[in-house]
Amino acid sequence: MRVHRFGAAVIAVAALAAGLTACSSGNGKFVVGIKFDQPGMGQKQPDGSFKGFDVDVARYVAKELGYRDDQVEFKEAASANRDAFIQQGQVNIVVATYSITDARKKKIGFAGPYLVTGQDILTRADDTTINGVDDLKTKKVCGAQGSSSPKLLADKFGDAWKSQYLTEQPGYGACLPLLENKQVDAISTDATILAGFASRSPGKFRLVGKPFSEEKYGVGLKLEDKDTREKINKAIEKMDGDGSWKKYIDANFGEFGNFFTTPPAVERY
Ligand code: GLU
Repeated sequence: MRVHRFGAAVIAVAALAAGLTACSSGNGKFVVGIKFDQPGMGQKQPDGSFKGFDVDVARYVAKELGYRDDQVEFKEAASANRDAFIQQGQVNIVVATYSITDARKKKIGFAGPYLVTGQDILTRADDTTINGVDDLKTKKVCGAQGSSSPKLLADKFGDAWKSQYLTEQPGYGACLPLLENKQVDAISTDATILAGFASRSPGKFRLVGKPFSEEKYGVGLKLEDKDTREKINKAIEKMDGDGSWKKYIDANFGEFGNFFTTPPAVERY
């Protein structure tokens, strides 16, 4: 009996310690899930620093929540593990080209949106055969697992198309070499992400520029944490109003920055 109780206590303490290191509040860190492989949005630099619109938004929000820059810790999130990172408390928030969707709203709380984009297509520069979503019906397409982008295409074109034409990778960065060496004909996801890839390799790729969805990026956090969610909504409104939003657009999107003229209104649902 005693042994058992002791065992249970050890397990409880270990679980608590694991919770504290994995998450946040215990060591004063504010852990943010971002993408590491999306230039312009969230990218880990060769020197280990982080750059992108999502990174800037995350830093602004963290500061408004009372965290210093050195307390913010970035953790790589993939499209497929964003929900679980939040639900399991492995991060405080996710700022990772994370669309507010009805399916996700059931398990994740979203502040924002802080950016609106649309699903688009990236092809090789010399491929003139793809000019809109309908052209993908007979083309090999790459998307990321757990992302809403391949799902939209699979829903549109059906299961037979999915098994014949769709390749899924852990992230969009991993789709790029497949497009380059002609294993696929297109990458389809948000224009923001594709624009980042296109501007990093001038002349190699072409952004089709005919968006066929509306993607509203939200800051994801635990569904039940309504207090923090409202604080983040206020932070986003402040960021939109004080010129920071526009500054981050210009700093991260270069020539494509012209597409983003005004921040979207925050939606409280
Ligand atoms: N915004 C879409 C999503 O949340 C596509 C981009 C991504 O997977 O990060 O699924």
